Amino acid sequence: MVTAALPRTSAVEAPRRISILGATGSIGGCTLDVIAERREAFAVEAVTANSSATELAAVARRTGAKLAVIAEESGFRDLKEALAGSGIAAAAGRAAVVEAALRPVDVLVAAIVGAAGLAPTFAAVNAGQRVALANKECLVSAGHLFMGAARRAGVAILPVDSEHNAIFQVLAGRPDVIIERIVVTASGGPFRTWSRERMATATPAEALRHPNWSMGQKITIDSATLMNKGLELIEAHHLFAQPSENLDVLVHPQSIVHGLVSFGDGYVIAALSPPDMRTPIAHCLAWPQPSPGAGNRLDLAAIGSLDFAPPDLNRFPALRVARVALEEGGFSTNILSAANEVAVAAFLAGRIGFLEIARIVEETLEAATAARWAKAPASIDEAISLDAEGRRLAANALNGRPPVMTKGTKS
Ligand code: NAD
Ligand code: MG
Repeated sequence: MVTAALPRTSAVEAPRRISILGATGSIGGCTLDVIAERREAFAVEAVTANSSATELAAVARRTGAKLAVIAEESGFRDLKEALAGSGIAAAAGRAAVVEAALRPVDVLVAAIVGAAGLAPTFAAVNAGQRVALANKECLVSAGHLFMGAARRAGVAILPVDSEHNAIFQVLAGRPDVIIERIVVTASGGPFRTWSRERMATATPAEALRHPNWSMGQKITIDSATLMNKGLELIEAHHLFAQPSENLDVLVHPQSIVHGLVSFGDGYVIAALSPPDMRTPIAHCLAWPQPSPGAGNRLDLAAIGSLDFAPPDLNRFPALRVARVALEEGGFSTNILSAANEVAVAAFLAGRIGFLEIARIVEETLEAATAARWAKAPASIDEAISLDAEGRRLAANALNGRPPVMTKGTKS
C-alpha cells in the first residue's frame, strides 16, 4: 500500500510550486482549472506539451510559468515567438522535457499520454519529486521500476486516476488493514450495451463519444474497449501492492463510486465523487493537506440510483488480455501498453476496425512470448527499448491486415 511506505510531509506553505507535463491535454486543462480557482495557492514552474506551441505559450502566459517546453523540436520557433517579451523561458526537445520535470517543485503533474511520458516522469520520481501521476502507462510499462524508485527516494506517487485516487483515500491512514479485494469501477464506455456485431462496425467518432467523461482521444478509445480498466488493474497492482486475484472491475454506468476496498472484517469502504477529474487533481495538488475540493459537488438524491454489473469479457476481450498480461508480469504489461497505443492510433486513423484493437494487442503479446522476452525491464532505458520492440511487433500485426473503410473519420 503506497501510503504505508511513504513519509508524510510537514505542513506545506502556500503557494505550492507546480509543474505540468502535458499541460495542453485534458488532464493538463483540468489541472489549470484547479489552479485558476485558487490562484494564490499555486505558483506554476514549468509547462510542457508535444507540438501545440501556440496553445502552450498561451498556457504559460496565463499561469505565469517560468518555463515552457515543447517536445517537438520543430515547434521551438513558434513557441519562442509566442513567448516574446513575456520573460518566460522556452525550450524544445525530449531532453528539455526531462529537464523541466527535474526542476524542483512541490508537485509535478505527469499528464503526458502514453510511453512518451516514461523518461521525464521516471527521472522526476527518481530525483525525489512528488509526482501526481495521470500517465498510467508509466506503471503499466514499468511499474516495478517506478515504485522502486519512489520507495528509494522516499516520495509519494499520488494517483490522479479517479479510481486509484479514490482507493488511495480509502486506504489513507490505515497501514495495517487486511485488504481482501480492491475494485475499480468502469462506466462501461459508449459501447456498454452494444453487441459484438454492432461494435465490429463502430467508427472512431462513435467510440470517442464517452457518456460520462471528456478526455483525450487515446484514453477515450481505451474506455470504449475496456482496455482502460485493464491498464487500471495493472496500475492498482503496482500502487497498492496487490496480486491480480485481489483486484476486480465492476461496471457502474453512473461513474459516482470510483473505487472500493473490501477489508477482512466484512466491511467495504468506497469513495464517491462526481465524474470530474478536477476532484482527484485538487486532492493530489493539496496532499497531504486536506483538499478544499474543486469542481462540482455530489448530489446523490438527484442521481437517485447507482447500478453495478460484472464486466462482460466476451464483448470486451481487451480486459481479459490485460488481465493475462498482469498475471504473466515481466515484459508482458510493457508490450501490452505499446501494442495498445499502436492499435488505438490505427483505429483512430481508420486503418482497422474497433474489434481489431484487442486482437492486435493479443497477437503482439503472443509474438513477444514466442520470441521469449520473458524478462522484466531492469532499467527505464530497457523499458523504453522494450516498448519500441512492442511497437514494431504490433506494426507487423497491423501490416498483415487488409485496410478497413469505416464510416467515420479521425476527429
Ligand atoms: P491528452 O491527449 O488530452 O493530452 C496529452 C498531453 O500530453 C498533451 O499536453 C500533449 O501535448 C502531451 N503529449 C502527447 N504526446 C507527447 C509526446 N510524445 N511528448 C511529450 N508530450 C506529449 O491526454 P489526457 O486525456 O489528458 O491523458 C493524459 C494521461 O492521463 C493519459 O495517460 C491518460 O490515460 C491519463 N488519464 C486521463 C484522464 C482524463 O480524464 N483525461 C483520466 C485518468 C487518467
Ligand atoms: Mg480511471
